[in-house]
Amino acid sequence: MSDVNDDIAIRIEALRVGFGHRAQPAIVLDGMDLSVKRGEVFGLIGPSGSGKSTLLRVLAGIERNWSGAIDVFEHRLAPRMRFKGALRRDVQMVFQDPYASLHPLHTIGRALTEALEVNRIDSPKRRIDAMLDEVGLPGDVLERYPHQLSGGQRQRVGIARALLLSPRVVLLDEPTSALDVSVQAEILNLLVRVKARHEMTFVLVSHDRGVLAHLCDRAAVIERGRIVETWDRQALSGWETETDADARVESWV
Ligand code: ADP
Ligand code: MG
Repeated sequence: MSDVNDDIAIRIEALRVGFGHRAQPAIVLDGMDLSVKRGEVFGLIGPSGSGKSTLLRVLAGIERNWSGAIDVFEHRLAPRMRFKGALRRDVQMVFQDPYASLHPLHTIGRALTEALEVNRIDSPKRRIDAMLDEVGLPGDVLERYPHQLSGGQRQRVGIARALLLSPRVVLLDEPTSALDVSVQAEILNLLVRVKARHEMTFVLVSHDRGVLAHLCDRAAVIERGRIVETWDRQALSGWETETDADARVESWV
């Protein structure tokens, strides 16, 4: 399907996901085609229930029941495949609610160390210290449990854990929408720094047009499981004033 040497990080063709009864499934992703370029921040926006999280979950190997064709760099994904080795390291996800991915009875130190060990990455201590510094967390969070952190700190842990594995693709599912407004801005600033510092490809779901205009190189609108529109950087900067897009997004809220 793809050229190994092209500039595409993620190539999706005719992706279909349905839930429910096999004979009459509810179609959530309905023949989606999408390409994300290497090194770009690609935004996804769309009404609640349009399939944004499902798409990221397929790309992260969490939702394994799908049909179509997906390449992530040189990895050809297949339905029902379990991510292992390089593929498991290469694709990391940051969830809307960082509690969802942190064991309540494990310290943050354990969560971060295990992520490295499972993926057989060396010098965990040095890597973890450098990463805490990068995401703006004090060293003593390592002894703490998830419930002892603020929402913003938990999300910094979620971002740290994703980045620790030096992935090539980071999937972010509404990473700021569970946070207080002032904390949202801090996490966005962190993401801007992360983007500048790492040569990674990001797919960022947000229902906030301003967030996408701020961070993304391109963005697409999903409705009913299909991409209905794609914006480049220039069009995105027009989102500040674009009344059509405003009206459309407001109608979803
Ligand atoms: P979004 O993130 O755009 O709000 P989702 O991808 O979470 O949308 O969900 C799309 C649709 O798929 C919703 O109608 C949701 O109820 C349904 N859905 C998602 N996951 C499952 C599942 N595991 N089983 C059944 N239905 C699901
Ligand atoms: Mg969602």
